[in-house]
Amino acid sequence: MHLIGLVLLAFSTIRIPYLHIKNNDLLSLWSISSKFDLDTEVTDSIVRISFGTDNVFINTRDLTYTGKTEGTLKSLKKDSNNIFISAEDIVYITGVLKGKYYYWDAEKHRIIESGYFPSIKKLKVNREQISIIHNIDLEPSSKRIGKNILINIPYGFYFGPPFLYFDNAEDPIKSIEITYTSKGTMFKVHLRRDVPLKILKSTGLFVLKLQESTNTPTGSTNNVIKQKQQNYHSKIDVIVIDPGHGGKDPGAISKRGTREKDITLSIAKKLAKKLRKKGFKVILTRDRDKFLTLGERARIANKSKCDLFISIHANYSKGQRAHGIETYFLSEARTKWERSVAAFENSVIKYEIKEQTPGRNILKWILGDMAQNEFLRESQDLAAFVQRSVTKKAGSLDRGVKQAGFYVLRGVYAPSILIETGFITNPKEEKLLKSNRYQNKIADGITEGILKYKRYYERKYGRF
Ligand SMILES: [Zn+2]
Repeated sequence: MHLIGLVLLAFSTIRIPYLHIKNNDLLSLWSISSKFDLDTEVTDSIVRISFGTDNVFINTRDLTYTGKTEGTLKSLKKDSNNIFISAEDIVYITGVLKGKYYYWDAEKHRIIESGYFPSIKKLKVNREQISIIHNIDLEPSSKRIGKNILINIPYGFYFGPPFLYFDNAEDPIKSIEITYTSKGTMFKVHLRRDVPLKILKSTGLFVLKLQESTNTPTGSTNNVIKQKQQNYHSKIDVIVIDPGHGGKDPGAISKRGTREKDITLSIAKKLAKKLRKKGFKVILTRDRDKFLTLGERARIANKSKCDLFISIHANYSKGQRAHGIETYFLSEARTKWERSVAAFENSVIKYEIKEQTPGRNILKWILGDMAQNEFLRESQDLAAFVQRSVTKKAGSLDRGVKQAGFYVLRGVYAPSILIETGFITNPKEEKLLKSNRYQNKIADGITEGILKYKRYYERKYGRF
């Protein structure tokens, strides 16, 4: 298939000395830090690896990045003058810190750098099932060998903690080990006991259901399991706000010279403040008038491991009459209007110096790579909550929740929406959009919508 050629072209490899002990590749901390310009700090109990202001803490067990425990360290060995860390772990950590997609090739013992978004979007684990969300052109297969299940995904790449260990003895899954070769990804699932399995496959989704008898233990054990799962997906605390356009890309400009990029930044800053007050950790893709490619915005989102992604825009129409607010989630446009809004917001690509955009059929590319299913549903729900609250607070016309293929939402692995906060081309709304009062109302509305979605979502996913 055409896509495979593309993927291979975007690969490069990096060689580094390694140790091969007991079926496990190890890299020395000093060699990787000098090769990749990382700072390290070692104490008795902790290794701190940093690049710029980002850092990862590892102890002999956990891998903690930006305050979240991400996974379990596969192995760490110390001798008197060096520290060795499993290659998968340290290469993943290096990628996270440097904002690159690095993978350890377990077959050829080298680092693979990929220029593309990982084709496996998300791994969700709870005590009943493992779900893998992937690009629709991948074809996972699985094989069971006793208490081990091997899930093989040719051409698949997953950028995430390479080893997950579940230490609760009640949990049927003991660990998941993720290894790469240049051919793709293998998930090795180790079970604690023989559990009947069922495999469900649909477009872009592979689910392994563990069919244990349902008398789940109650009390404290349950809480431990719950907490563990929250580490992976069931809590919303990190939100990325993306002020549309910026720098050499002004976005829409009104007849009177109002620029979309200024409005979006101003609203985004107000929104960030309000969300922080509510206890969220907020990251802005830009906090000043700066040009960012659409790909860079998604990379910032993924690096932060955000739980939600909110892109702020102001609308444009040819006439002066159109007004009101609309909220988009990523899907195929159904109407001419949706298509035209998406075409405008995607047109920033003309400012981007040849990013990895496969030529002609851009819409097909945007949608083809989308994590569908659960993600789509979550984005749609988020859009509905936000649209309702924001139109009510702002007192603006509710133009509805809409769907279209936005490049900026494409690569983000979290529920993502794009809000058109009003029409810069409508003189009345333009004035409002420029006013602090209206900007605050918009930010209040979005905040309220997010809080409502958070309550709904955490209730839905909090009870496993
Ligand atoms: Zn825009």
